[in-house]
Amino acid sequence: MKLLLTTACSLALLSAAAIAEEKRDLGAHEHGVAQLNVAVEGNSIVMEFEAPGADIVGFEHPATSDEDKQMIKAGISTLEDLSNLVSFPDGSNCAVTEVSAELHSEDDHDEHGHDEHHAEAEHSDEHGHDDDHAEAKHSDEHGHDEHHAESEEAGEESHTEFHAEYALNCENIDKIDQMTFPYFDAFENAKEIEVQIVTESGANKFEVMRDKPQIDLSGMI
Ligand SMILES: [Zn+2]
Repeated sequence: MKLLLTTACSLALLSAAAIAEEKRDLGAHEHGVAQLNVAVEGNSIVMEFEAPGADIVGFEHPATSDEDKQMIKAGISTLEDLSNLVSFPDGSNCAVTEVSAELHSEDDHDEHGHDEHHAEAEHSDEHGHDDDHAEAKHSDEHGHDEHHAESEEAGEESHTEFHAEYALNCENIDKIDQMTFPYFDAFENAKEIEVQIVTESGANKFEVMRDKPQIDLSGMI
């Protein structure tokens, strides 16, 4: 009996820790920076993609207006088409076999009915928006994407992330000697994707920037 109680207790602690972790993760992401994990095995590729809501729809407040909800829907359906995110060399003949895309928000974990107030959301959005414009202009003038500024982080009270998963089957997987990222054309707020590729021969990391949306994989797959 004691053992059971202890086990139940540890489980509760574990899941609390998991929730805290998830919450912290959402708040800790850097706007403009997405993550893509790619695993290659045999003829299959599995990919997990995460991007801040700011990158995909330009906001991270709870979607209350129809316009917000519409933008989230559009963001999800853009992500559901993998060709908007990455492309592989034609000869590899990769076909997508599974896709899922969804929005994660901090409210997802709010199972106990805490009524969090988002009263300031609108106010801070306006600031966030102005800052976005100012920042965008600033970056453009200098011609490169500088990592900025507390502006967005400080202006937003909540964070959201888009998560997507893809499975592919490739007829000629060894023809994959590069990946390109139309993602940057699809999402104007996106600045960077941190790509991790795990193959049978090892793991590699890349920081893919908007001005060079391509990685060289020759000899890796
Ligand atoms: Zn955020």
